[in-house]
Amino acid sequence: MTKKETYHRYHIATKPAPEIEKWPPRFNVTVGRVGLAKNLIKEIFHFGLGERREVVLSRPCIYGVFSGPVGGFAPRPQECVGCLRCTTEYPDYVKVEPNPARQQLGDSYFTFNHVNTISVESLDGSIPVKGAGYRGKFGGEGWDGMWTDMSEIVRPTRDGIHGRESISTIADIGYSPAFLQFDTNGQVLGETPNSLSIPLPMLFDLSAPAFKNNIFIKGAAKAAAEVGTLIILPVDVIKRLGLTGEHIVPLLKKGDESKLDSLVDFRLVTLSEWDAQLYAAIRQTLPDALVSLQINAVSDELTEIVEAGIHVFQWVSSFHGRDPQGSFILDSIRKLHTFFVEAGIREEVTLLGSGGMIAAEHIPKALLVGLDAVALDTPLVVAVQGKFDGECESREMSRFTFPQKLTADWAAQRIINLAAAWRDQLLEISGAMGIRETRRLRGEMGRAMFMADLEAAAFEGIDGYGD
Ligand code: SF4
Repeated sequence: MTKKETYHRYHIATKPAPEIEKWPPRFNVTVGRVGLAKNLIKEIFHFGLGERREVVLSRPCIYGVFSGPVGGFAPRPQECVGCLRCTTEYPDYVKVEPNPARQQLGDSYFTFNHVNTISVESLDGSIPVKGAGYRGKFGGEGWDGMWTDMSEIVRPTRDGIHGRESISTIADIGYSPAFLQFDTNGQVLGETPNSLSIPLPMLFDLSAPAFKNNIFIKGAAKAAAEVGTLIILPVDVIKRLGLTGEHIVPLLKKGDESKLDSLVDFRLVTLSEWDAQLYAAIRQTLPDALVSLQINAVSDELTEIVEAGIHVFQWVSSFHGRDPQGSFILDSIRKLHTFFVEAGIREEVTLLGSGGMIAAEHIPKALLVGLDAVALDTPLVVAVQGKFDGECESREMSRFTFPQKLTADWAAQRIINLAAAWRDQLLEISGAMGIRETRRLRGEMGRAMFMADLEAAAFEGIDGYGD
């Protein structure tokens, strides 16, 4: 077997990438000194300061919050993970509360809880464990109104995350005709399949005007190349930064025909709006490239555009997941997917989506309701410790501030870590649902449950329901 033919199991190489800017700790930890002193004396008396010294000094926190040079008398809140063990064991003198300064991170949609999660994931690619002690709601608005069904009795792929059985996360982008036609000589007539595969159903989408930081963009592009995915960028940004490679997807807008000459080796090109003239020019300059179209509305015109040759569509919502009509992206994807199913051409198109998908769990949910792959935007900003300047919903007007010490290499590693953590969570949920490959998640509504439907089935007709 030649080297080229050797099988490589896909793996994302994570590496610790500690924060380069000090963020406020997640929790404020206060301790009553008298209570702590009394407890220390009691424990020293009980355990002594010999072999069991460590036990005494690790209390009341095994994470080292009270293990600084002067012990608990000067707590180190940055070490606190919020497990609440201390407040449970020593409620009289320890108090742990969310830090209001930390709660300022993100905005009303990208809440500080999402920011906290991503800051752990991008640190080293690990998955934050929040199950024990979770006191929040199990349902709500938007993505929280959808649950995934993991109640399958047979789970052949369980533990795929640990490598016992492989779960494929490959996503295909492109076009497969419903059937092939051949002439009498056995030559294929008409359109032939044309697609590319990426090893995980995640692309990066920094095509919005709001993304302006060059170092951030370079870091994201490097990360895209390393994990083997694609990054969508405006053609002017690609030229300005001198970016090249098959992982780059140029975004072209009406009137950009003159910029086509400089584009070579691109596997996918994106149009910001439908323009027959520009599409014809692309076909001439890049005959083998796939072309996708950004959309934010569903209409019968889409079938005409498919007939014209476009087979990849990218649904683009605001950063809060809203389309111009006000629909949330979850509903928009369902509508788009259903449109193509009813038109009988769902298998002939690829659906991508961006905007409002900001947590690992949103990826499988978006696939279940109909996407083939998700294009990430604002999570990449948070991964590199970017801060939101007020509400960041608009793709044009939002403003982000990045750390002063930002470097492309560090940004790339943080984004690689995030991609690894989200892929691991995708593997975990796929295993729990008994699904062996991500491609089979697409539109698999049998695994989706909606809170509103379940509540209606359980409570409709009962006095007070729906008031
Ligand atoms: S909440 Fe947990 S991590 Fe935080 S100080 Fe208490 S014991 Fe330590």
